[in-house]
Amino acid sequence: MSTATLTIDLDAVVANWRALAALCAGETAAVVKANAYGLGAERVARSLARAGARQFFVAIAEEGATLRQALGPGPQIYLLSGHMPGDADMIGDMDLIPMINSVHQMIRHVEALPGKPFGVQLDSGMNRLGMEPAEWAALRDVALAQDLRLMMSHLACADDPDHAMNTRQLAQFRAMTDGLEVPRSLANTAGILLGADYHFDLARPGIGLYGGRPFATARPVVTLDIPVIQCRDLTAGETVGYGNDFTAARETRIATVAAGYADGILRAMGPRTSLWAEDIPCPIAGRISMDLICVDVTDLGHDPKTLQLLGASQLIDHLADNAATIGYEILTSLGARYLRRYIGG
Ligand SMILES: *Cc1c(COP(=O)(O)O)cnc(C)c1O
Repeated sequence: MSTATLTIDLDAVVANWRALAALCAGETAAVVKANAYGLGAERVARSLARAGARQFFVAIAEEGATLRQALGPGPQIYLLSGHMPGDADMIGDMDLIPMINSVHQMIRHVEALPGKPFGVQLDSGMNRLGMEPAEWAALRDVALAQDLRLMMSHLACADDPDHAMNTRQLAQFRAMTDGLEVPRSLANTAGILLGADYHFDLARPGIGLYGGRPFATARPVVTLDIPVIQCRDLTAGETVGYGNDFTAARETRIATVAAGYADGILRAMGPRTSLWAEDIPCPIAGRISMDLICVDVTDLGHDPKTLQLLGASQLIDHLADNAATIGYEILTSLGARYLRRYIGG
């Protein structure tokens, strides 16, 4: 079998959720949009629900419906994209809570599903989603007279604790919500780490659950082991792969493994990345292909059966740095071809 194995440690996800929840006086939700950042929303959410998580956030209604089937009745499922055309049946039947982003969405929701719960998303400066202060001021009393469950906003620069945007957004969010008797939510993972002022009633961590920055003490969650298909010897001067990018400087042993950029292993990470045989790094030789990567295993002294791209020796943020991106993109790029194996949970 040449399928690479992605192992997801559900105990680590639960431990990360508990550690973040312990920092917050209020409640802590779990953000499981984009299939729990590529790791499998159903398994991840079920483990977290067993550990005590009662509130979940997804991006779109279809994700919410799938999650409801996995979790059953009880937990609250919020939709960050709000209430879009065609969503009403799913929202009603699956008991989902749209985070209303505009007057438009508000009208759509109360007309299609009168009496059904919703939240509001407020723009405190990011200018991505949510109602502007004036829009909210005009709508507020109508919203408060309905089944309004949550008021939230999102931080643009929380990963930079010294950024002036954080206190600006905090002040704006407070100005829009102070004195209203409805639960509030502002903090993602980075926002939790900014301190208690940012926590309000409900925190919304995503990346920290999955072992990513800026939650520095997170337990690593993913391991990726890729089978070796073939090994060969090169004499000095021979080349490897497309464009002859790698030239052997000595007698070299090359192992070819069964994964590539079609599996989310970004080409850009190639020049700075190694695969690991236990604790020994074996550098990628030449360009990452669609389904294959060549690896210099000369110094290993034997032919490995598999090589590891993600694990204790190399975390998602290492790969992210190597590819000039962020851990979120490394996780959500993880390929559909991998065998996903769950441990713990
Ligand atoms: C994705 C997202 C989160 C989670 O953010 P992390 O940085 O992954 O913790 C929280 N809130 C909103 C609105 C989001 O889009």
